[in-house]
Amino acid sequence: MRQPALPEPCPEWLASLDDAALKRTLLDRVEAAWQLCRKYHPALPRPKVWCDLRGKCAGQAHYGRGGLRFNPVLYRENRHAYLVEVVPHEMAHWLVRHLRDGRRARPHGHEWRTVMERLFGLPPRVTHAFDTRRASPMPYRYHCGCQDHYFTARRHALARRGRRYRCLTCAQTLVYQSFVDPESRYN
Ligand SMILES: [Zn+2]
Ligand SMILES: [Zn+2]
Repeated sequence: MRQPALPEPCPEWLASLDDAALKRTLLDRVEAAWQLCRKYHPALPRPKVWCDLRGKCAGQAHYGRGGLRFNPVLYRENRHAYLVEVVPHEMAHWLVRHLRDGRRARPHGHEWRTVMERLFGLPPRVTHAFDTRRASPMPYRYHCGCQDHYFTARRHALARRGRRYRCLTCAQTLVYQSFVDPESRYN
């Protein structure tokens, strides 16, 4: 595996940014990723950028709108990984789509993986790991008075049948909140 082609952002600096500075940093990163792609494909159009994605979707290349969509909440909560992985991930889709025969390439197929590995120097990951609990075998979220707890399917079944679990910190009974989708994929 090669070294990442884009510069490593400083996590402490990222942690200090407000929302406006975060947005500028994202736009700078998109610009840097685009410039890198243009070395390989000089005619690549500059994508527009929107920060309007919600939910578990990290990013999306939207060819109809002519640009890339990003998720401001996942970005704010996972600044470093977001800049390092999501921006190249979506820019790689953008590049592949604009190659000859790009419309026929599979979304995370050979062409996309090649761009991720050879151009960006990154592992071609299809799922993101922003909240590791999403991908864990404990997808059932419970709450007490002080924090979230995550249950396995087995423990969840016992709780549904009436067994009570208490938080060791606040001693409140845990209450079921929701199933956390373990398939948190990129687009
Ligand atoms: Zn608690
Ligand atoms: Zn993708």
